[in-house]
Amino acid sequence: MFGCECADIILEGKKCNGAIIRDNHGKEFEIFAEKTIVATGRRGAEWLEKICGEHDIAHLPGTVDIGVRVEVRNEVMEEVNDVLYESKLIGYPRPFKNKVRTFCQNPGGFVSQENYDNNLAVVNGHSYKELKSDNTNLAILCSHNFSHPFNQPISYAQKVGELTNMLGTGHILVQRFGDILDGKRTWEKELYFSNLKPTLPDAVAGDITAAMPYRAMTNIIGFIQAVDHVAPGFASYETLLYSPELKFYSNRVKMDSDFNTNVENLHCLGDSSGWTRGLMMASVMGVLMGRKIY
Ligand SMILES: Cc1cc2nc3c(=O)[nH]c(=O)nc-3n(C[C@H](O)[C@H](O)[C@H](O)COP(=O)(O)OP(=O)(O)OC[C@H]3O[C@@H](n4cnc5c(N)ncnc54)[C@H](O)[C@@H]3O)c2cc1C
Repeated sequence: MFGCECADIILEGKKCNGAIIRDNHGKEFEIFAEKTIVATGRRGAEWLEKICGEHDIAHLPGTVDIGVRVEVRNEVMEEVNDVLYESKLIGYPRPFKNKVRTFCQNPGGFVSQENYDNNLAVVNGHSYKELKSDNTNLAILCSHNFSHPFNQPISYAQKVGELTNMLGTGHILVQRFGDILDGKRTWEKELYFSNLKPTLPDAVAGDITAAMPYRAMTNIIGFIQAVDHVAPGFASYETLLYSPELKFYSNRVKMDSDFNTNVENLHCLGDSSGWTRGLMMASVMGVLMGRKIY
């Protein structure tokens, strides 16, 4: 059923009887099932949040990661790249002492742009097996949790993304680290004369600090300065920061150890369940669920 979307689940009281599917012509039809498993991944996070609210599916607010994609020349990361394809660096910079971490490191890689369904442009990074750039990019992420009275982490991060997109007129914003410390925006001609050439040519030079929340920006600056002790040059003037780098995770659906939600015959799997955040864990959860519920 490629090209179809799950529009809703079918409920009879507190029991799930299947799902409502919408094909790519907008036609809806019902599929009945003894057991229904929601496995809509990160893309389905917002949809599942809505479904949980509408059908009273017990869940806890999730987390959202807000940060930047950092790009430096390969020489800066050489010692790290030589021994590890992907380093995992973690810090707790002052004054907030929040956990800040690196994610998705791409030696000789390229910074890329992704557009979500609601046209939110976010930055990411990838590498090719054969084609290598002169730069290494990685994400620096700060996790955000909310409780009371506001508990909508996805909406919060979307607003940050929308504001950044507005400043970049729909493009990814890029700024030199030195300009951030100097309190100025970056100009196109300054990037042009830089030793470090952006691998995302479409990115627009500007001021990411005008859209980044104070707490996240302070965390990122402190973290970059700390990483400079491990990889000298990481906090150089020319280091590039691209924004918005956002990672959305689903609300954590409450389930018992047999993967039962509070709705009978309804189960949630993988990243959309809020219990996993990566390929390995999502796959393992699938195997465990297969064993438990059939
Ligand atoms: C760019 C990128 C890079 C990543 N890199 C890594 C990495 O290096 N290492 C790693 O471990 N993890 C990585 N991840 C995360 C990894 O892809 C996920 O953790 C994993 O795919 C989760 O598996 P899943 O089955 O839960 O969801 P998914 O693989 O996301 O599958 C869910 C599917 O459901 C579909 N869907 C969503 N909503 C609906 C709906 N309403 N109706 C029907 N279908 C729907 C989606 O289109 C998708 O095809 C990356 C993710 C992204 C986006």
